[in-house]
Amino acid sequence: MPVIDFHLHIMDAAKLQPWTTDYLVESSGEGMEHLTMLMTSPDLLLDMLHENGVDRAVVLTEISPITTGVISNEAVAVFCEGHDALIPFANVNPFMVSNPAQELVRCVLEMGFQGLKLYPTYQGFYANDSMIYPVYAKAQGLGIPVMIHTGSSIFSGARLKYGDPLWIDDVAVDFPELTLIQAHGGRGFWYQRALFMARLHKNVYVEIAGLPPHKLLEYFPDLEKSADKIIFGSDWPGLRSIKQNLEAIRSLPLADDTKAKILGENAARLLDDARCV
Ligand SMILES: [Zn+2]
Repeated sequence: MPVIDFHLHIMDAAKLQPWTTDYLVESSGEGMEHLTMLMTSPDLLLDMLHENGVDRAVVLTEISPITTGVISNEAVAVFCEGHDALIPFANVNPFMVSNPAQELVRCVLEMGFQGLKLYPTYQGFYANDSMIYPVYAKAQGLGIPVMIHTGSSIFSGARLKYGDPLWIDDVAVDFPELTLIQAHGGRGFWYQRALFMARLHKNVYVEIAGLPPHKLLEYFPDLEKSADKIIFGSDWPGLRSIKQNLEAIRSLPLADDTKAKILGENAARLLDDARCV
């Protein structure tokens, strides 16, 4: 069964806030030079992923200059081009483009992006703000999934209030055909809320990047009941070892088919359905 990492960052080292650089170096245990080598070479990144047991990965754009840093949609598109195992997700910062919906269309139709990641806590808007609604309408029309950061962040300037999974409820209701993925599963004190949202809405999922895998059942005691809605992500380069995270999930007291769904089957269904549209 293929393993899909739904949450991986490449960043431009020259455009990172200093606290982001410090965090990446500390959490990965690697120097920035080594990380930059992997974040600028798709072949080396794929080698690293394969060594860790990952077959495909979602590569995220992030345009959050005040809170974390910037890598452009263009840079991520070029990085992933010609590498089917690297799945590019665009970012549209609604405060930095005059027409966010048009920017999404450009990313998908002209640059080959297969999904969108939104960063409300880093970019300062609520997921249900009318300003971003045209973007959801386009994403639904294009048939691409939208991942939204939920829960806490340690980065300076991030605002927790925007990370409440409850804001996604409106979006799930208003765009019933749009796939919505709650990155970090409401990290902090909204785990139950995030899982509840996934249970309530057929189009809403929980992604577990950045959560210590051995604590998953503590955060989501009923996880097994929602096996079709949980998606693995690593948040690389912000961790020591993807392989260790995968092993920790495989050693949880869950059914084998639940683990297969979390580690790849659910993600494959979402990504491959999106591609058919
Ligand atoms: Zn992340």
